[in-house]
Amino acid sequence: MLGKKQTKFIFVTGGVLSGIGKGIFAASVGNILKNRGFSVNIQKLDPYLNFDSGTLNPGEHGEVFVTDDGAETDLDLGHYERFTGVNLTKKSSIMSGQIYSKVFEDERSGKYLGKTVQVIPHLTNKIQEVVLDAAKGFDIHIAEIGGTVGDFEGLHFVEAIRQMKRRVGAENVLYAHLVYLPYLEASKEIKTKPAQNSIRDLLRAGIHPDIIGARCDRNMNQEHISKIALFSDVDEEAVAPLPYVKSVYEVPGNLEEAGLGSYICKKLELKNAKPQKNGWEKFVQNTRTAKGVVKVGLVAKYLSNEDTYKSVNESLKFAFAAHQKNVKIVWIDAEELEKKGTDQLKDLAGIVIPGGFGNRGTEGKIMAARYARENNIPYLGLCLGMQIAVIEFARNVLAWPSATSGEFDAKSKSQVIHIMPEQRKNMDEANYGATMRLGAYPCVLDKKSKSYKLYGSEKISERHRHRYEFNNDYRDEFIENGMLLAGLSPNHHLVEIVEVPDHKFYVASQFHPEFKSRPDVPHPLFLGFAEACLDSSADKKTVIKKIISKRQKAAV
Ligand code: GLN
Repeated sequence: MLGKKQTKFIFVTGGVLSGIGKGIFAASVGNILKNRGFSVNIQKLDPYLNFDSGTLNPGEHGEVFVTDDGAETDLDLGHYERFTGVNLTKKSSIMSGQIYSKVFEDERSGKYLGKTVQVIPHLTNKIQEVVLDAAKGFDIHIAEIGGTVGDFEGLHFVEAIRQMKRRVGAENVLYAHLVYLPYLEASKEIKTKPAQNSIRDLLRAGIHPDIIGARCDRNMNQEHISKIALFSDVDEEAVAPLPYVKSVYEVPGNLEEAGLGSYICKKLELKNAKPQKNGWEKFVQNTRTAKGVVKVGLVAKYLSNEDTYKSVNESLKFAFAAHQKNVKIVWIDAEELEKKGTDQLKDLAGIVIPGGFGNRGTEGKIMAARYARENNIPYLGLCLGMQIAVIEFARNVLAWPSATSGEFDAKSKSQVIHIMPEQRKNMDEANYGATMRLGAYPCVLDKKSKSYKLYGSEKISERHRHRYEFNNDYRDEFIENGMLLAGLSPNHHLVEIVEVPDHKFYVASQFHPEFKSRPDVPHPLFLGFAEACLDSSADKKTVIKKIISKRQKAAV
């Protein structure tokens, strides 16, 4: 039983290729339903055997997104939050490893009473329980299955969602399948065959799609739509074209225009209210009309995959668009900087050092932080970027050349960034995972700080994912030498933001503000950074003021 309220389920699968935007498609479906007034939850079911995304290499898999409740998740959760405005939880990010370990726990504790434990029904039942649990209390629950249909490693998820129709009633379930239609330059035609094959894979697994998302880099015509509808046995209105768009934030509007919102409501027997606007239309319009490009350097270690810093990229775009500017992110390899020097930083309007782990490239990052501080170039440090700013300040302002972080040199006696004694205990007990500070923590801002002016309030809450902290033994020296400890934990025990006050903008946070930036409400620290990067603009202040009040309303 699902309780009093009947939750409706939408399962999103994909085919043909990975990386065609299934996460954006699922997030967009969430968006158009939320705009009709429904409460929407979204969940990602990932086939990997990992327990969570925290240990996956970001160079390979993209960023690890962190929720308020401290889950280390797939980057798709970032899309879901930005598109639906909902703060998701641990329950929204499920990997096969977690499901298997629940089954093993039950087996060890004798719950199966000596029965043979099998993928069907034991694993598939567990998946359904996890879906039903996450869906509780919502009008609509969307679950996206990672990978493509037909992948060997995702079969248990596909089978579990097939059975869901029997479990909760056919009228409460929709299957949405996303396909890709390649274009052949030589014959100048869009091909539907790979999509047909992928739909056949889905049918073979016992799932009849209700909706087809058709991703195509060229403009499809009615003939293509009719063809897809015919071979997947769906209504023509059920085929939603997803043409190439400059900004992913155009996708929900396009789907709405194609009639998908109304079609879903009809199929799920939901009241089809007139959809509200997103509030980010202005942002999309600004990205089109923005005049001038501002170059911002992102000094980092993983540069092979743009998704590694997805939320940072998006946050920069939102903030610059609010100032009617486009941002060009220049990727700077920290190790190369170490070898070649800071010349390549010369024509940058601002510098960002994002989060990161390990020693590689840190000297290059320290050079970039010094360059920004000494040349009055706006600097935004995010997590590791704050630790780098603190080390650089110690080395070059406090004249302490050996200053470092315990992460880079565990034996050093000059750790201005370190593991706190209470965390050390966990590390010694080899409980390594428990040493991370994860999820939302409150922070109190100093009223003299830039951060306070930008947030427009004294108490804030931001998301963390790190092991090391500012070393309190040296607080006084930093303060005496001009660093402002702009944000502290409410008990004043932890340093959360540092600033250099007599600088255009030198702000670095121990938390990750990028996880809470939205297209309609850009994050204050990014907004302040963007403003500082602009030469001059009369309406700078009003942009920030307007967004402060929007943030308060949106309770981001
Ligand atoms: N590696 C640093 C730490 O663990 C910073 C982590 C991060 O930037 N997310 O404290």
